[in-house]
Amino acid sequence: MKDPVNFSIGQPDFEAPEAVKRAAIKAIENGANRYSQTAGDEELLGKIAGGVKAEFRWNEPKVMVTSGVSGGLLLAFLAIINPGDEVIIPDPYFVIYKHVVNMLGGKCVFIDSYPDFGLDVQKISDAITDKTKLIILNSPCNPTGMVYEGKQLKAIAEVAAKKDIIVLSDEIYNKFSYDGDCASIARWYDKTLILRGFGKSYGVTGWRLGYAAAGGQLAELIEQMIKIQQYTFVCAPTPFQKAAIVAMDCDTTAFVNTYRKKRDLIYEGLKDKFELVKPGGAFYAFARAPAGRASEFVTKAIANNVLVIPGNVFSEKDTHFRISYATSDEKIKCGVDILRKLV
Ligand code: PMP
Repeated sequence: MKDPVNFSIGQPDFEAPEAVKRAAIKAIENGANRYSQTAGDEELLGKIAGGVKAEFRWNEPKVMVTSGVSGGLLLAFLAIINPGDEVIIPDPYFVIYKHVVNMLGGKCVFIDSYPDFGLDVQKISDAITDKTKLIILNSPCNPTGMVYEGKQLKAIAEVAAKKDIIVLSDEIYNKFSYDGDCASIARWYDKTLILRGFGKSYGVTGWRLGYAAAGGQLAELIEQMIKIQQYTFVCAPTPFQKAAIVAMDCDTTAFVNTYRKKRDLIYEGLKDKFELVKPGGAFYAFARAPAGRASEFVTKAIANNVLVIPGNVFSEKDTHFRISYATSDEKIKCGVDILRKLV
């Protein structure tokens, strides 16, 4: 396609902060080019541990650096899921969950969260069986942009605690929260495994860097993930781990403010034409296609030079489509104009 409006990309359009780029270059020049410890660079681990300790009042947090949040997800699933285990996943969901769980012989139990994409505590509670091993939460959510309320998370924490089920909280978009802070279920539940990333927050998705963190109750799980890292990724990229130490001190408020405006442009531009829940975070909007199957609407959008992703990539349903507004304001306005004419 020639110069499309590209609403398909799941990564920010901004450049990494200059200080972060310089830190990576300096790390390479200073010889940080060999393996790090399997769990990660000691200084970075200390910084991450200090952060989560303060945030969740964990006495002895256990942390490790992963090769992106994808790396963390794979390690967590390998460590937790045995064939036949059930994993509760609100639908729509981030694509990786379904396929990796299936690959390991696990069974995805999807919780339909349409049309408002909130967490239905009762439905989640009802879905728990003797085989339930894990509940996955992703807030802010890809593809819906939903930011779950503390009240809902607290209720899920109570349900999970009753059955002693691990919660995996994918918080890769936690910095992209536009209407207040994004709460983590780890505030209410100490059997939470947190996965967070550097790629989206600092515009360095190609650096493949994230981390896993948990309180003492899940120390053994992180130990097992480190063991599997030793036999798979070995370690996360060493020079970028050094740069991540600098990144953690960078203020991302300006990025977030810019993206809040983009969220407003998309939402205000489309809300009267499409069924659309106002996204509170990440950089996605999940709109209902006007009629028929969403995948057909997506074909029509692409024929009109707008690239969007059919919702059935992220869902068992084919009713919605995902817009990533991580692009220039001009492109957003142009894409909004085109999408409005397709209704
Ligand atoms: N979780 C979610 C919800 C995502 O959207 C993504 C990236 N699209 C990932 C994990 C993986 O991120 P990374 O690039 O850090 O592997």
